[in-house]
Amino acid sequence: MTDCLFCKIIEKEIPSYPVYEDEMVYAFLDITQTTKGHTLVIPKKHVTDIFEYDEKLAAEVFARVPKIARAIEKAFPDVVGLNIVNNNKEAAYQSVFHSHIHLIPRYGKEDDFS
Ligand code: ADP
Repeated sequence: MTDCLFCKIIEKEIPSYPVYEDEMVYAFLDITQTTKGHTLVIPKKHVTDIFEYDEKLAAEVFARVPKIARAIEKAFPDVVGLNIVNNNKEAAYQSVFHSHIHLIPRYGKEDDFS
């Protein structure tokens, strides 16, 4: 999609910090860094939200998540947990309308995100 921020990130028209990439997904650091290592996993195919996935794409995208979670854990050995978040549509606080999975590492009581 031409006017999509995350499509532009996939195309490297807008810079991002890569975490993982293959033919199906791109994972990169969230600009907000809710906690250190906060990563977004996005399908390269433009889908707006969960309502647009078919089973095959959903399976292929989510299949990458454990590997990316382990990469975050390896990069930040003080990680003690990880939230997986996926917001769909404005009413659910989606603000970028190219589907993405948030991987938010947790560092224990001192991380102030709840
Ligand atoms: P929310 O803003 O409520 O978290 P989303 O679930 O749609 O809504 O998340 C969009 C995410 O995209 C936000 O966490 C935001 O920080 C991130 N983001 C926006 N622009 C960029 C960018 N240029 N590079 C990396 N992450 C971005």
